[in-house]
Amino acid sequence: MLKSLLSLFLQENCPLCDRPTQEEICSYCQKQLKNYKLKNHQQFWQGELPLFVWGQYEGKLKQSIAALKYDKYQSIGELLGIWLGESWSNSSKVKSIKSITVIPIPLDPKKQKDRGFNQAEVIARTFCQITGYRLQGNGLEKVRSTQAMFGLNPTERQANIKQAFRVRKSLEKQLASNPVLLLDDIYTTGATATEAAQSLRSKGIKVIGIAAIAKPN
Ligand SMILES: [Zn+2]
Repeated sequence: MLKSLLSLFLQENCPLCDRPTQEEICSYCQKQLKNYKLKNHQQFWQGELPLFVWGQYEGKLKQSIAALKYDKYQSIGELLGIWLGESWSNSSKVKSIKSITVIPIPLDPKKQKDRGFNQAEVIARTFCQITGYRLQGNGLEKVRSTQAMFGLNPTERQANIKQAFRVRKSLEKQLASNPVLLLDDIYTTGATATEAAQSLRSKGIKVIGIAAIAKPN
């Protein structure tokens, strides 16, 4: 209420198209974003590390994830987390999974300090509000700096991310009794997700899969 009153005085613009809007993202952009939504989110929910994914990493969805990360529009992450949670709650293979802990893929501490937040954690927060899952925002820590994955081939990606994550010591016991769902903004080759899952599994923690907002074709 207060927010909508304030917005009458403080003209807010949509972070994606700059049109004035009463919402965090204008309805025109929301509609366009939904064009990138996959019909079947659980088509990759199989194998060693099952993947649940909301949409296609291109066009407006790609633009919106960049605006979340680099222009720091956390509201975009909150909205995408809600959509991911709604899709999860409507998907037959996963919706009945109970009592899991959601752990976002961590950023390099320096990058997180510069950015001020971890976009995967922002997405995970609203995802957990919708699904009712427990969020453990700092269940994993990144203990080694890595290069950006962009431009690396699959073998280089694997080597780059090797042993980059560690389970937070104080949470090891607690996590051992609850299966974990990893969560990230973008899933590319799966090298990062596989390495994160490996660090949990090496401590005897069960990892059921990873949920991500977007995946390139
Ligand atoms: Zn817009």
